[in-house]
Amino acid sequence: MNNQQVAGNYPTLNKDDLIVITGAGGFIAGALTRYFHDQGFTRIRSIDKKPLTDWYQRVPGVESLSMDLSEKDNCIRACEGAVEVYNLAADMGGMGFIERFRVECLRSILINTHMIEAAYRAGAERYFFSSSACAYNTELQEDPQARALRESDAYPAMAERGYGWEKLMSEMFCQEYWAERGLRTSIARFHNVYGPHGTWDGGREKAPAAICRKVIEAKDTGTHDIVIWGDGRQTRSFMYIDDCVKGINMIMHCDELNATPINLGSSELVSINALVSLVEEIGGIKLERQYDPNAPRGVAGRNSDNTMIKKILNWEPRTPLREGLEKTYAWIEQQHRDRKAGKRTVSENFQAA
Ligand code: NAD
Repeated sequence: MNNQQVAGNYPTLNKDDLIVITGAGGFIAGALTRYFHDQGFTRIRSIDKKPLTDWYQRVPGVESLSMDLSEKDNCIRACEGAVEVYNLAADMGGMGFIERFRVECLRSILINTHMIEAAYRAGAERYFFSSSACAYNTELQEDPQARALRESDAYPAMAERGYGWEKLMSEMFCQEYWAERGLRTSIARFHNVYGPHGTWDGGREKAPAAICRKVIEAKDTGTHDIVIWGDGRQTRSFMYIDDCVKGINMIMHCDELNATPINLGSSELVSINALVSLVEEIGGIKLERQYDPNAPRGVAGRNSDNTMIKKILNWEPRTPLREGLEKTYAWIEQQHRDRKAGKRTVSENFQAA
């Protein structure tokens, strides 16, 4: 099956087949729901544990359920009649969240464990799991110029404590459900995703959104200062949300990738300092930088090696960082304005259970 077939034709999926998407009250699954809806799929069931009023996006005509998917019975209900299941629900956030709340991150294993079993029992044809670059061996990421991570670099395993180990174990569930039970599974290791309708405040936000917000706030208050976590020399790559949802679709419908973890990320590497400069340019301001060496900073360097995705799908995420950031900045600026005006916005404050 080639890229063209996969992207447009969904060879095995009818427009009225039931697609189940979990975590749909959040960033990526919310965008994925809209993507499938806009492609003309008429039966989509989206689920999140958040109350419906707190979902980042609500797509008209889509069945939306508020359920906790760490409970087995809810997963059975979620998967009833499903042809394809996309499991993106997880308790997660940026470095500030995953370094501090490891128990919450580890407990996401309940979601995938129950969801994959429920999908299998419901007779679903395909199951997607959103893994992460945090599953990679952290010892390969100790230098800002470390080589980009290849799929084989997850083993020998030394994943990010908590969050990364949960992803690695859940990947293994997907691989064994295919090997032992014949359930087609797809596993994408996302590298930092950003874009409009993502978390931008409250403790779970990631670097691009956090930096946009800080620049917008500095402009608004006239303080002209910005606090950067770590020394700013740590490097990352950032994937725009439109590339992410397109990649999920292609990976899910490529039989060659059954039960095979694959990078889904941009290979445009930047330091956090360079990211700040880019956002300053977009905001039309120059700020005084202060560095907080005690703040969470994660690994020193991480990039996505896209050799495999280019070879198999003849595609890789390509939205230039500047282009994606301009759209993200504009959206966060509007959110900031809305919040000042007392309107409802996408941001939340995390309280551990
Ligand atoms: P998000 O926090 O915006 O969305 C996750 C959603 O899952 C949230 O709305 C949350 O309420 C929901 N959820 C949590 N526990 C649940 C439960 N028990 N039952 C039902 N819903 C539950 O995060 P996101 O950025 O959209 O991430 C989606 C997936 O992609 C996650 O699995 C995440 O680990 C993975 N991922 C994201 C990134 C990234 O950069 N955003 C990077 C790597 C991997």
